[in-house]
Amino acid sequence: MNKLVFIFQVITNIVFAIENTSVFENTQFLDKNNYYQNVDQIMKQKYYEINKNNTQRERFMQQNSQTYPLRITYDIFRENDQQITEELEVYIGSLLDTAFSYYQSLLSVKQTDQNNTFYLKELNNCLGFLIKSDDFVTGIEESDLHLYVSFKYSDSDLIASAGHCYIDPFLQRPTFGRILLNLSYFQKINRTNLQFFRDLQSIMHETLHILGFSTASMNYWIDPETNEPYTFKNVHKILKQKMLNDREVSEISSTNIVKTIREYYGCDSIEGMLLENQGSDYTKNQHWERSILMNELMSGSSNPEGGVFSLFNIALLRDTGFWDVVDENLANPIYWGKNQGCQFYENKCQADLKYDEFEDIDGIFDCSYTGEGFGVSQTDPFSDDCPIIYPTDSQLCINYEQNQQINEIGNISQNNLMFNFSTQSRCFKSNISIDNSAASFADVRCLKSYCNEEGTQVTIQIDQLQMILVCKEEGQTLLVENGIKTYGKVICPKSFPRFCSSFQNICPQFCSKNGYCVKGKCHCNKGFFGDDCSQSCSELNEEGQCTIKCPPGQYINPDITCQNDCPQGYFKNVQTKTCEKCHFSCSKCNGPTNQNCLDCHLLSYLQNNTCVTDCGEGYFQNKQFQKCQKCIEGCLKCSNDKICQECDGQNGYIQYGNLCKNTFCDLQCLTCEQDKKDKCTSCVQNFYLDKTQQTCQDRNNCPQGYYSDQEKRECVECDEGCLQCKYSSDDCQSCDETKNYTLFGNKCFQLINCFSPCKTCLDDSSSIKCATCINNYYLQEQECVEQCSIGYYLHENKCKKCSQNCESCINFPDNCLSCPQDKFLSNSKCYSKCMQGQIWVNGFCIDRPVTSYNLITKNRALSARNNQFQLLILCLLFLISLI
Ligand SMILES: [Zn+2]
Repeated sequence: MNKLVFIFQVITNIVFAIENTSVFENTQFLDKNNYYQNVDQIMKQKYYEINKNNTQRERFMQQNSQTYPLRITYDIFRENDQQITEELEVYIGSLLDTAFSYYQSLLSVKQTDQNNTFYLKELNNCLGFLIKSDDFVTGIEESDLHLYVSFKYSDSDLIASAGHCYIDPFLQRPTFGRILLNLSYFQKINRTNLQFFRDLQSIMHETLHILGFSTASMNYWIDPETNEPYTFKNVHKILKQKMLNDREVSEISSTNIVKTIREYYGCDSIEGMLLENQGSDYTKNQHWERSILMNELMSGSSNPEGGVFSLFNIALLRDTGFWDVVDENLANPIYWGKNQGCQFYENKCQADLKYDEFEDIDGIFDCSYTGEGFGVSQTDPFSDDCPIIYPTDSQLCINYEQNQQINEIGNISQNNLMFNFSTQSRCFKSNISIDNSAASFADVRCLKSYCNEEGTQVTIQIDQLQMILVCKEEGQTLLVENGIKTYGKVICPKSFPRFCSSFQNICPQFCSKNGYCVKGKCHCNKGFFGDDCSQSCSELNEEGQCTIKCPPGQYINPDITCQNDCPQGYFKNVQTKTCEKCHFSCSKCNGPTNQNCLDCHLLSYLQNNTCVTDCGEGYFQNKQFQKCQKCIEGCLKCSNDKICQECDGQNGYIQYGNLCKNTFCDLQCLTCEQDKKDKCTSCVQNFYLDKTQQTCQDRNNCPQGYYSDQEKRECVECDEGCLQCKYSSDDCQSCDETKNYTLFGNKCFQLINCFSPCKTCLDDSSSIKCATCINNYYLQEQECVEQCSIGYYLHENKCKKCSQNCESCINFPDNCLSCPQDKFLSNSKCYSKCMQGQIWVNGFCIDRPVTSYNLITKNRALSARNNQFQLLILCLLFLISLI
């Protein structure tokens, strides 16, 4: 350690994290176990001392309500023999800066005016990294979290490893951490935009371990019941071991995580979020379980399509109790297992139901779940024996940097198969080709596509044909043809929300190594701008951001471009002409301040323009609209607007079935106007509110022109022209003839003047219809005809419909003259023909005594199976041609 060469120490407001392409932690890379055992011993004493005199801490917490973005500082060290080119230095610097600026936006804390000091003098190292004495004497200025970044050469496929090394007992959050980068890995990689995007996710992943996602830090998470750390003694309250399908598994069951997963999977019986149960000690129990949450950032291994920083990590960071604000607006959407229910969570691919997340067996060739590529299904070391489609790099539609160079795919020209590789390209089931040579290639294509803002429509752009296709329905089949030639077909995505969510996670050009991607928009690092952050600015403002002025009506977006609109989670600040972040509790807001919420995040509900988790007395959570809704009058506690659990006794309400009755009001009123006991506003059971009189009437006593509506428990007015209706406003029984209304079916129509052969007509707003006919014409379905059509018979000068049984009839509806094709006539009645193998005997169909029927079906089944087998062979051939 004494050979360290100091590269640069940046005291910026930045932070970071890491891991690797295939497996995230590695036992040999950073020995955490020993360290944490020692730290835990020392920390016990420190927490004890702090807690002895807790008033100081309480005072600090009360006096400082204001929170500020987390300031992350870091030092990078390398040893003499560690060669780093200038280009690599820039690459790694940008990785760290980007990851830390992400967490700086995500997390806010209360600040102290003291330097961030490493108080573990007894240890003098941060996860094995020797700390210079300044850091535990004077400390680091303007820092909430300080990280030591260093390098190591390792042949393993690991990218990085990280952990916290000190949790401040006074601030009760991690204040120091270490990141170790694998220099062999960073020297080896092609530093493309996609590679940066993946490495950034690795650094973000590692940083999240430092910020609280590790079993080592769970002892220090704050128990909301006591406001104290759980400690080793109580950590079992949130970290549980159990057996699930013969596997020993661990679950995190802290409050927000449990609420989130129940809502996400749609299963109210889940007790905790499963942690990875496979892999080494450093992967196992330190990540989300792969099979129930595959493409999450905190999955046990990276995957080719990348990981999503999702609401699961938000819930976890909230549950640590370390961070005062965790801004859910920085989370990206995830769909794996969403709304799939308890079966999915418990049994994954082994469940009785078939899920799109998994294939039945290894070796199936298809588009991947996210649609970002295609590939062959395989069971990975973490997927609990479930086969999942994993694209290789050359099978990734979004891997434009590598794949645009390739001219052929599976021995066929890319152009011929109309492949397109870009950050806007996704995998579709399709067999299109320019010259129909596609028969030897499997039915998948990478095609450029776009979702509309609502995610209700997918547009596909085929450059080779200069053609645009629009998917309006999920799973729709679109024929690709231009009037001269047919090129094949494209099948629209099976689920638009899932398909479109991928566009939220992948930004243009992966933000060109200069920013991170949230909900499809790049957030550029200081000094860069453009929708893909590819341009560096000529002029910087005091904060190091590009100086930019927008024309009237436009606003500066997070990617420092001028747009007419702001992205989701932002509102237009008319004064500064900037898109400003909504309050962290709102998912949508419209200004003038950041707290004018329009929509809320998953576990919160809109109430008077703010988002709350508890709607308060007299309200319930309307989950469908994510709003707080008032309980019925006089109710203190309810879970919907139909059933009250507790009535407001203090104000004279008593329980009345599922409702509350105001005891002050007249007998039949459930509720009434204030101080007017006979002016009802709602009625007791079996009575209906007559709003005109504010009285309650029994079922048959609603005023004329009204009916008693069971659901609303009110007298509801019948439709116009109707004097008497029964079950609904348009279920009319008599019409107002004084105003020329007449009853047809159960509706009232107004008679109007009309032309021959109609004598009188009805106005039903859409068209004019006959009510009566002139002489020698007969009324049939509101038309006047000279002769009844087939299927109608003449009765009292009107053509009436025959029964469904007859094709034609006379005098009576079921007095048949002829029968439909599948029936035959006998004694003016129509009978069904007998099934194959049966004969008609005395009005019944009976089995024919001898039959060859069984033999026929058997043969048919056999040939169907042969077809399947041939298909399988074809698929295998496709695969071979791909390799
Ligand atoms: Zn990890």
